[in-house]
Amino acid sequence: MIKTEKLTFTYPAEEGGRQESSALREVELEIEKGSFVAILGHNGSGKSTFAKHINALLTPTAGKLWVDGLDTGDPENLLNIRGKVGMVFQQFNLFGNMDVLNNCVTGQMKVLHRTREESVENAMKYLEKVGMSAYINAKPRQLSGGQKQRVAIARALAMDPEVILFDEPTSALDPEMVGEVLSVMQTLAQEGLTMLVVTHEMGFARAVASEVVNHTIVLTEEEQR
Ligand code: ADP
Ligand code: MG
Repeated sequence: MIKTEKLTFTYPAEEGGRQESSALREVELEIEKGSFVAILGHNGSGKSTFAKHINALLTPTAGKLWVDGLDTGDPENLLNIRGKVGMVFQQFNLFGNMDVLNNCVTGQMKVLHRTREESVENAMKYLEKVGMSAYINAKPRQLSGGQKQRVAIARALAMDPEVILFDEPTSALDPEMVGEVLSVMQTLAQEGLTMLVVTHEMGFARAVASEVVNHTIVLTEEEQR
């Protein structure tokens, strides 16, 4: 599903600003369909940079990365790759002016050209899955952090991605809300969705990975730098 070959990325120097910064060095990784992969590492070790490579927000400065056989470095593959990869970030990036349902509908209509009816039906299916179907008319500001993050997960799922990537999905949450989000993620892993999770929740990473699917890949700091 995802394969890298000496994946390397260096942020360029900015004029009068930051110096060049090496974020990934020759990362070798292969992730099979249906696996749950936890990516661990200290702050600044390149986890988010790696995540951004998977949906081609960033492309390698050297080496390669393929998603389902598609080279992310080839601009012709961009739309195709974005359609295969869903993303959930640390800060629930819901559209503040839209209610829960429309947050989960708009991408399907705009990007996948689905009808409103189809999009609503699909959105409802996933909102039910994450336990948020009672909140379809709520605006993001009316929801708790855990609820917002569950909507963000439903929104990503509604695009029917082949792999979903979570970048520290619980790190901005109050502790009492972490569990509800991890529990949704655990269900998804059990259902065989290919998942990549950047997380500091070691207990969760270990439990889900051993219990459900084959392996947890831990990028060592060496590999990430
Ligand atoms: P992590 O997600 O593991 O905390 P990042 O991928 O965000 O790490 O960052 C990896 C390295 O790249 C760090 O040294 C960071 O300072 C640098 N970096 C991240 N984003 C940028 C950027 N936009 N411009 C320049 N350097 C960056
Ligand atoms: Mg990060």
